Amino acid sequence: MLDTFGRPLKSLRISLIDKCNLRCQYCMPEEEYVWLPRDDILTVDEIGELVDVFSELGVDKVRLTGGEPLLRREVVDVVERVAANPDVGDLSMTTNGVLLAKQAESLRSAGLDRVSVSLDTLRPQRFEQLTRRDRLHEVLEGIDAAAEGGLKPLKINTVVMREYNDDELSDLIDFAKDRGAEVRFIEYMDVGGATRWTMDMVVSSSEILSRLARHYGPIEPLRDDGSAPANRYALPDGTTFGIIASTTEPFCRACDRSRLTADGMWFLCLYGAHGIDLRRPLREGASQDEIRSLIVRGWTNRADRGAEDRKALGLRGPLYQIEALRKDPHREMHTRGG
Ligand code: SAM
Ligand code: SF4
Ligand code: SF4
Repeated sequence: MLDTFGRPLKSLRISLIDKCNLRCQYCMPEEEYVWLPRDDILTVDEIGELVDVFSELGVDKVRLTGGEPLLRREVVDVVERVAANPDVGDLSMTTNGVLLAKQAESLRSAGLDRVSVSLDTLRPQRFEQLTRRDRLHEVLEGIDAAAEGGLKPLKINTVVMREYNDDELSDLIDFAKDRGAEVRFIEYMDVGGATRWTMDMVVSSSEILSRLARHYGPIEPLRDDGSAPANRYALPDGTTFGIIASTTEPFCRACDRSRLTADGMWFLCLYGAHGIDLRRPLREGASQDEIRSLIVRGWTNRADRGAEDRKALGLRGPLYQIEALRKDPHREMHTRGG
């Protein structure tokens, strides 16, 4: 099944919950949020049923995200249910790692293949400034537990922000290397809750590369696999890392991803203004065929390339101001899943 630009539907990111135990500057900078109604949150069975339909239509990669997915009480049950689908070849999770040490082993036993842990700094005080919570030690324990528990390949996601953490690029590469992990530097994006975004704070992929080359020596680009969002590189000693250049070099032309919010809204693009409601038909008793038709219609009409459209604007500010986010929390990054 292809969209209007010939892109297949391969990868589904499922947000398990909109709540989070951190308050990252670039995602949840406010004091108060409008949360999704509790009754609207998809049950484990509903998630499983939708994954079954998506997988029949080509989805073979599922990533669990949030909010913070490990705050969802039934997270292990969700993993078990999705892992039972033989067409899902790759089941991963993006987490802030705070609760990972406690759960790594049961997640692995339930069928989770791998995790990406978000970590923007190795300095406790800076971590607290960036996330408004003093929980770096728990994240570090979580990363160790994931590495020891075989949740591999282990990735560390770092959003690079000028004058916040751009002096830690090599520290993070060395930290990851020591744990058999790989860093992905993510350009700061103007999405969702990033209401304080400015272009000046974005450290571009090319700037990251030139800074690292000054530190380590010549950097070699590695062949990419076409649809993966990260460009990968190797340092002279063979250490690899990735850069997700969503802001300065968007990769929409190869995008095979869509997102399902915790309350069952299906978004065809991270920047998409509207989602397709899959919860309502599911709860009103629609058959699998009817849900399938909704998904087919949505994907075959898909013409989204949000990050490229944003880049084409030239000078720009944040996508949304706080009033717009409060009006519809589905616009938040912590709702639609990163
Ligand atoms: N709470 C989990 C976590 O932080 O890993 C999962 C959800 S979080 C929304 C998923 C990813 O989105 C994280 O790696 C986070 O760094 C990234 N993210 C959130 N806001 C971003 C922004 N404005 N620019 C770039 N990446 C962002
Ligand atoms: Fe940070 Fe992830 Fe929570 Fe957003 S959802 S505030 S990125 S930990
Ligand atoms: Fe895909 Fe939209 Fe991101 Fe482009 S902006 S890569 S189309 S999700």
